[in-house]
Amino acid sequence: MKIVDALSLPATQRDCLRPGEMLRDARGETHRLPRFFYEVPSWNEAKQFQLTANFTLAELILVDCREARALFRQAPLFVPCAVTILARYLQQFRNRVDGPVFISANGGYRSPAHQWDRARPDGRASAHHWAAAADIYRVGDTWLDAREPIERYARVAQGIGPEIFVRSFGHGPGETDDHLHLDLGFLTVIPHGWSEA
Ligand SMILES: [Zn+2]
Repeated sequence: MKIVDALSLPATQRDCLRPGEMLRDARGETHRLPRFFYEVPSWNEAKQFQLTANFTLAELILVDCREARALFRQAPLFVPCAVTILARYLQQFRNRVDGPVFISANGGYRSPAHQWDRARPDGRASAHHWAAAADIYRVGDTWLDAREPIERYARVAQGIGPEIFVRSFGHGPGETDDHLHLDLGFLTVIPHGWSEA
């Protein structure tokens, strides 16, 4: 996949992706948004591009119409380079649960311009803006909409390694009750051949 420095993109896309800008999360901590993205020529290519044996790129960039218009299914698509690493973790999870893993719409990469995030009172920066988070709503025939399955699969995810963060089950801010949110933190990838200056 072609890599781009998002700072060199036209203003309409740059304003949505906000490469290198600082963004505050729900706890008031500040994080620098990713700058290096894969450029995906078409939605069709995203559907065909296997990141791992069981995950296509499309599954991790599926967004609804609340995504910024300049990004929403308009070719080319952009996704932070961390998405390939997220996919490897999801594949590990998939291997451990031994069943299909379903990612929600908006449950992979979302831009910082996504309206759902802008409307949320409990924070702005989330690992989804780094393509380092996934919301899983179903594993095999099991829907993750109750405490028991969410906590069971959260333990599976955490068993992969200490770098995995999962949101607790609950109905309050920062908790989930209808999916399992897992992430790798604010994972930033700087590919070879690109300068950070
Ligand atoms: Zn999430």
